[in-house]
Amino acid sequence: MNETTVNLLDKLENSHSLTLDEYRELVGGYSVEIAEYAAEKAVGIRKKIYGNAVFIRGLIEISNICRNDCLYCGIRRSNANCDRYRLTPEQILNCCREGYSLGFRTFVLQGGEDSYFSAKTVCEIVKDIKNIYSDCAVTLSLGEYSKEDYSAMFSAGADRYLLRHETADKEHYNKLHPEKMSFDNRMRCLYDLKEIGFQTGCGFMVGSPYQTTDTLAKDLKFIETFSPEMCGIGPFISHKDTPFYDKQSGTVEMTCYLLSIIRIMHPNILLPSTTALGTVSPNGRELGIKAGANVLMPNLSPRNVRKKYMLYDNKICTGDESAQCRKCLDIRMKSIGYEVVVDRGDFKKNKISTGEVDSDL
Ligand code: SAH
Repeated sequence: MNETTVNLLDKLENSHSLTLDEYRELVGGYSVEIAEYAAEKAVGIRKKIYGNAVFIRGLIEISNICRNDCLYCGIRRSNANCDRYRLTPEQILNCCREGYSLGFRTFVLQGGEDSYFSAKTVCEIVKDIKNIYSDCAVTLSLGEYSKEDYSAMFSAGADRYLLRHETADKEHYNKLHPEKMSFDNRMRCLYDLKEIGFQTGCGFMVGSPYQTTDTLAKDLKFIETFSPEMCGIGPFISHKDTPFYDKQSGTVEMTCYLLSIIRIMHPNILLPSTTALGTVSPNGRELGIKAGANVLMPNLSPRNVRKKYMLYDNKICTGDESAQCRKCLDIRMKSIGYEVVVDRGDFKKNKISTGEVDSDL
């Protein structure tokens, strides 16, 4: 094993911080053995804080109508082959009802940037969910709004917000997005969300077109300093009806290595093993958990819309019932020694692990 890379991982474990140059070296120093070393550390750290628990979030894909035109995304505005849909508030509540009975205690409302979902409408839906399921957390993943809008959503009871930064390098950002979209606004949103008090999640795609060791180092440094409560990373996968239709997908190996690094950097972080990871490899989600992730976000959307929320080709579980997915995950997690728990799965603030912390999972 390369000694410099080992030392960097040890340093990250002890100080939770590296310089940009060091992150560059860490990313560039990837090897199978180093990744195993990183995963072992990451799993040990995660175990002390979250035990063997894996948190689940019920993902409700509320709309695939989107005003944006991100070059990588299958539901981008200019994809004329995308069959558009929008769930009604009633359909969303039905998904929550089913999810609750399946043991979900977090609902994630995700969607394209659909003007129908104004802050006012989102607030009404959030209030309805929180009224009925007061023991559940609501996470929003609906893209960019003004600070006032985010504040209103937080006041309405939303607990968390996921907004991947996509890349921490402005030039790279501009290669993934049309001119109308702005890196600075994306970052503004993230800082606003944090300031308002949301448990905030950033994140990026691994192996997105034009990504380099340099841009990845910037992603890691950004994640270090922004210190999010959640971080979503998964491999980029091409979609046939986008400008990136012929670009290579990201790999399981690099995704898992980066998951381990992020766990070592922020021991308490909530880190999903993503559906995209399960799409590039049949046991991708298990590998993600074994690399240090502790969250799964199975689909709770009505079955008849699932194939329409195609961010990338060959997305898994689009033909399954929610109950099937839930059972399948239970079995998959048991098979690797983990347990899916019925819990809101909030971020644990305290750094030190004690028996007490583990026992209240
Ligand atoms: N409109 C919301 C939700 C976007 S979809 C928002 O702007 O945040 C959620 C995430 O899916 C995106 O942030 C992106 O990182 C990821 N994604 C989109 N297209 C993808 C692709 N082709 N491969 C892998 N992940 C993709």
